[in-house]
Amino acid sequence: MTDYPTSPLMGQMMDQPLLISSIIEFAARHYGDSEIVSRRVEGDIHRYTYRECEQRSRKLAHALAGLGVKMGERVATLAWNGYRHMELYYGVSGSGAVLHTINPRLHPEQIAYIINHAEDQFLFFDLTFLPAIEAMARSCKTVKGYVAMCGREHMPAKTDIPMLLCYEELVEAAPGDYRWPQFDERSAAALCYTSGTTGNPKGALYSHRSTVLHAYASAMPNALNVSSADVVLPVVPMFHVNAWGLPYSVLLSGAKMVYPGAALDGKSLYELFEQEGVTFSAGVPTVWLGLINYVMQNDLRFSTFRRTVIGGSACPPAMMDTLIDRLRVQVIHAWGMTEMSPLGTACTLMGKHTRLPVEEQRAVLRKQGHAIYGVDMKIVDDDGTELPWDGVTYGHLLVKGPWVVSGYYRDEGGEVLQDGWFPTGDVATIDEDGYLAITDRSKDVIKSGGEWIGSIDLENVAMAHPAVLQAACIGVPHPKWSERPLLVVVRRPGMEVAREELLAFFDGKVAKWWIPDDVVFADSLPVGGTGKIQKNKLREAYGEYHLPTA
Ligand code: ADP
Repeated sequence: MTDYPTSPLMGQMMDQPLLISSIIEFAARHYGDSEIVSRRVEGDIHRYTYRECEQRSRKLAHALAGLGVKMGERVATLAWNGYRHMELYYGVSGSGAVLHTINPRLHPEQIAYIINHAEDQFLFFDLTFLPAIEAMARSCKTVKGYVAMCGREHMPAKTDIPMLLCYEELVEAAPGDYRWPQFDERSAAALCYTSGTTGNPKGALYSHRSTVLHAYASAMPNALNVSSADVVLPVVPMFHVNAWGLPYSVLLSGAKMVYPGAALDGKSLYELFEQEGVTFSAGVPTVWLGLINYVMQNDLRFSTFRRTVIGGSACPPAMMDTLIDRLRVQVIHAWGMTEMSPLGTACTLMGKHTRLPVEEQRAVLRKQGHAIYGVDMKIVDDDGTELPWDGVTYGHLLVKGPWVVSGYYRDEGGEVLQDGWFPTGDVATIDEDGYLAITDRSKDVIKSGGEWIGSIDLENVAMAHPAVLQAACIGVPHPKWSERPLLVVVRRPGMEVAREELLAFFDGKVAKWWIPDDVVFADSLPVGGTGKIQKNKLREAYGEYHLPTA
């Protein structure tokens, strides 16, 4: 913590800590009738109001105290997007304990590592994850009890999980007179581990203050633009950086919330969008792929859906064009990371852009966007010298702000900041208007003859070919150039495209020397726990690949 000097004349405003509980208190009092609709793991649709959500969150907080959970202690979840998970968001953090959301798609060994590292005291889980818990429980040394997020009627009949409790019984038994405690806003509120593609996952420990500030900022019009007129369906999981803060920003905005549970296929999502009148959503490109395909193949249209945020990895321009031009859905391309709570930039147009031809506007919208107030960023060269904002010069991207980590949980990885800035591990350009464009992750950049080739640009070109469903570009060893790009492609079902045709498709779209040296066709691409293509797996698979030019 930095000790800042105190002025001899302090402001005379009320000193109220920015606590997560204040969001749900406000939501219940001022938008009490706003709805939260959830598709449950049990199969049915559950609906209730903000008011009921707040009451049950308080009862849950009371129950946690009864279980002996103290301030600062970690309580873990392995759960989908749903109302009970939301109650945990508020009940755990609101009581002063720390909500640790675990990504169930991680390898079981990684999950056990994370639980032990976080020293979780209780673990709440959706029934989907019962087998995983049964397999893991013995290795989780600190967990005193497991809570199945269901009613008594759905409790597993036979299981050897030690100290298994029933969520609904816990909540129902607790009295309703719990009052949210007040404490220092810098107290830890939530813990989220990075996916750890290299080495063990590291924890980003959010505070109440950082979470509330992030919620305010991310709801602004230049960011996600959430209002009480919206119906919001976060496809992005609540275990992936707190569903990008939506469980907080939606509640403070008063919007209706719709949670999809475990049913994330195109058909289930489309039906829920239509039934509940969803206006706004958020997710990574791979989930949009499924939904868009379902809608296009069945010649459907959205009747209320108007806006979506896409981030987590680059939104392919072809996907953006389909959403905007054919499905009439505005796309807000956003960039962030676990270490940034996660929002850093969001792409919306400035007044001056509205006079530009559509194609030029689209070129702006394809970028990762403009910093939102609270986040500062810069690009630097290898020596740390700041580089110009000209839209062409690329360098290492560094960020700072009140919702950016200052280090990892339990000081894993030691000192991470460089002169007070957090190195993102991304390579980017920033243009004259302050719009960020991510070229690549530093570890994915293809280094050809001492120059860098951005894999995202190459993938975007490939994805624009009608026969290409998914594409990933990696560097493979080359005797002369050290590395050259290899394009790995998944074709759309029933469509053909030859190597030569695909390579010719790059002509005129990128510099000649950027064009991949070869194409391999695959049935699928490896996808990690947060829906991103795992390039490290591709590099392992094609590390020995012999390029025709080699
Ligand atoms: P993890 O680091 O655990 O994979 P994060 O969600 O924290 O998960 O990933 C953050 C990284 O994802 C960023 O550093 C960046 O490389 C990538 N990323 C996020 N959003 C975008 C985007 N819109 N375009 C390109 N890359 C993105």
